[in-house]
Parts: sequence; structure tokens; C-alpha cells
Amino acid sequence: MTKHVLHGWGRTAPSVADVVSPTSEADVITHLATSAHVIARGLGRSYGDAAQLGGGLVLDNRSLRGISPVDADGLVTVGAGVSIDELLSVTMPLGWFVPVTPGTRQVTMGGAVAADVHGKGHHKDGSFGNHVRSMRLVTPVGARTVTPEQDADLFWATMGGMGLTGVVTEITLQMRKIETDRVLVDTDRHKNLDSVMDAMLTGDVHYNYSVAWVDCMTKGASMGRAILERGNHATAADVTELRLQGPTPPKLAVPFNAPSGILNPLSIKIFNEAWFRKAPSHEERAPKTLSTFFHPLDGVKDWNRFYGRKGFVQYQFAVPDAAGETVTTAIDRLSSSGVPSFLAVLKRFGAGNPGPLSFPMPGWTLALDLPVGPSKLPGILDQLDELVLAAGGRIYFAKDARLDPAKAAAMYPRLPEFRRIQAQVDPEHKLTSDLARRLELIGK
Ligand SMILES: Cc1cc2nc3c(=O)[nH]c(=O)nc-3n(C[C@H](O)[C@H](O)[C@H](O)COP(=O)(O)OP(=O)(O)OC[C@H]3O[C@@H](n4cnc5c(N)ncnc54)[C@H](O)[C@@H]3O)c2cc1C
Repeated sequence: MTKHVLHGWGRTAPSVADVVSPTSEADVITHLATSAHVIARGLGRSYGDAAQLGGGLVLDNRSLRGISPVDADGLVTVGAGVSIDELLSVTMPLGWFVPVTPGTRQVTMGGAVAADVHGKGHHKDGSFGNHVRSMRLVTPVGARTVTPEQDADLFWATMGGMGLTGVVTEITLQMRKIETDRVLVDTDRHKNLDSVMDAMLTGDVHYNYSVAWVDCMTKGASMGRAILERGNHATAADVTELRLQGPTPPKLAVPFNAPSGILNPLSIKIFNEAWFRKAPSHEERAPKTLSTFFHPLDGVKDWNRFYGRKGFVQYQFAVPDAAGETVTTAIDRLSSSGVPSFLAVLKRFGAGNPGPLSFPMPGWTLALDLPVGPSKLPGILDQLDELVLAAGGRIYFAKDARLDPAKAAAMYPRLPEFRRIQAQVDPEHKLTSDLARRLELIGK
């Protein structure tokens, strides 16, 4: 057991904890039995304080390994510490892809379950939990196999439960059959936010995957100009060369923290402009590798260092369809405030999961990357919280580093139900995290 300073991907709010690396379910059982306060950690890709626990014990689960053969129906059993990257390296050459992937492959199975991650295909495929058939879960009252059929309350509370219902040691996942390692992508540049939102509302139904990269530094008639990328898996008939290669490793790395001040309104405007110009104004069925389409940021290792020592906040919210104007207002507030923001990511959501802390809801989700620094930033984000709340929306816990407990409870009205299920498997409240303490997610 060693002491470590831990933080999330945004590198804000570090805290010091004892860290151990269990290698088996039996190890996890022992640690839960002998420790006062515990939380699981995967690859630390949640942005805020979800996978850390100041003064407590953090189980670094990356050593929970193992990938079974994929059976004829596409079922695979995977250790909770295996990343999507590692899983795809094994399964893609055999023609199996994960049905849901977030914007990075560097997340573990445990982290994907705990955040119930979503990808560019939520409007078609739902989130990660929709494809998990069973999992081994170690709780303070014992280890068990949990399925949506036999233990529905605990299964769904664990999906999106941010590690607070137990430690996942293994999952059985339904994979997706693919014929090639390409996606056929249609790209369109949109002159403003209204235009791209209209296109998504009317056209996303024709695509398995859809994402818009929105420029939040433009104002007036071009406020929220965007690049919309939508695609479907290429079949064998669509390509001249039949290939099924695993993910491509990063080509670049950021070796040290960038000096503070390098990211300012001017430098970000220049970056956003270059990104916008680089995209074709209209292109159809361009074959892209799965890595390029799904995980463009994985091409640069440790890219979060680019934000310097102070780090950055990712602010992601979901709002229902009826409140689409909240997206417009949020981008308008940001662009007129002059607070720098890299390209925002706008996606459509389908229905959420039965889980009490499920984040998605039918409608829109917007994710903003904001360097910490500008004095106006906290005030603007507080205003955005109010806006999201008034629209019946919510903030994503996997990205959050700053929400307060009252707003969290209002955004997640089924929090009491989550607390009840959590208390059944953790009556002494051993499972907690900096996030859970800050937002009062579990009972006292
Ligand atoms: C570049 C980038 C892009 C991203 N894009 C998306 C996206 O498109 N969609 C999306 O949904 N998310 C996205 N994320 C967020 C990321 O998918 C989630 O935060 C995910 O949970 C991270 O997994 P991890 O293994 O790094 O977990 P950690 O960050 O280490 O932990 C996250 C949570 O999972 C819990 N946990 C970890 N392992 C276990 C376990 N074995 N058992 C129980 N609980 C466990 C932790 O306690 C914590 O609450 C992105 C993150 C990055 C950095």
C-alpha cells in the first residue's frame, strides 16, 4: 500500500489516498472487509474527483485482467481492469467491436460500467449498460453475480452509480459484429448552431453514429458554427481492401505541462478556426478507420498536459428535446463572455437507462472543455447549472468537478432511491469518493 496524489483527467482537485492494486476478487473482498473507506479506480479518465478518496483507500483495478474468447453470439467476459483499447486489440481482428465507446479507448470496463458511458450512437444503441449481460460485483456485504434479469435494482444502480454500489471485477459484454475496420463518414460544415441542430434532428436517424464539433468562440450569425460527422460501419461490399486491424497507438505525446497562458482566447480561436477550415464543407461516405472516427484524441498521449498545471474543466450537460434552446443559450453565454473554450461536442441522446442515476435523457448533450483560469469561469458555470436545471436537464457526474449537492439532488430526483439501494449493499457506508462526499450522493 502506497500513498499517492490522485486527480481526474482535468487535473483539478487532487487528494492523497492509500492505493493498492488487487489482482483477484478475493483481494478486493479482503480490502473491502479491512478498510474504513474505499473507492475503485480504473484509468482515471473521469475528469473530476470520482475515482479518488482523500484519506481513504483507492483500489487501482487495472490488474483485474482477463479476456475470454468471444463466443459465436458475440459474448465476451472481461476483467474490470481491461481497457476498451486492450479489448479491441484482441477482438477487432476477429470482427467484433464494442457496441458503445466513449471518445477515448483508455477507459476500463469498470469505469465504463460505473459511469454507464455513452458514445456517438446513443440515439441508436443506448449506453454501455444496455450491452452488459452480467457482472461480478464485490459489495461490503458480499460478492455476487448481478444481471438485469435477476438483480435489476442493483444492476441498474451500478450503471452510472460511480463505483458506490461495489467493485466490479468482471463483466460479460455483448459485442457488435463488424465486417471491416472502417466507418463510412458523411461530413458537413454548418454555418451556425441552428443549422447543425436542424440537420441532427432530421437526419441522425439515418446514421448509427453522429457527432457535431461546435465552435464556441464565434458570435452573431456564425455563433456555434459546427462540423457534423455522421457514419455507419462499412460492410465488406463497401471497401476495396478488406481489413480488420486493431486500434492504432498514439503517434504523438505531450511530454510536460504546457506553460500557463498558452491557452488564451486568441490561441483557442486560431485552433478552432484551423479545425473548421480543415474539414471538408461537404463529403459523403469517406472511409475512416474506427480509431480516427471514434477516438481522435487518443492520437496524442497525455494531451491533458496541454492545459498546463491549473488543468481544465469539462462541463457536460443533457437537456430534454423540448429544451433545445438551452444549448443555444449556453453557447451564446460562453461566446459572448470571451471565456476560451475548445471545440464543444454536441450529440443526440435517446432514452436513458432504468438506473436512478442514469445521465442520458431523450434530447441533447453538450460537452465543453474549459481551461481553468479566467475569473469569470466559475460564475458562468453557476449560471449554466441554473439554466440546465430549469430546463429539466442534468450534469454528467463522470465529468463533474464543481457542482453542489443541492443542484445535484434536484437534477437527479431519484437520488433517494439510489441511496436506498446503495445502503442495502453498504450499510456502513464504506464506499465513498471525493465526488460522493462533495455531492452527498450516499447516506450518512
Ligand atoms: C478524452 C475523453 C473522452 C471521453 N469521452 C466520453 C464520452 O464520449 N462518453 C462518456 O460517457 N464518457 C466519456 N469520457 C469519460 C470516461 O469515459 C468516463 O469517465 C469513464 O468512467 C472513465 O473510465 P476509467 O476506467 O478511466 O475510470 P476512472 O476515471 O478511474 O473512474 C471513473 C468511475 O468509475 C469507478 N470505477 C472504476 N473502476 C471501477 C470498478 N472496477 N468497479 C466499480 N467502479 C469502478 C470509479 O470509482 C469512478 O467513480 C471521456 C473521457 C476522456 C478523458
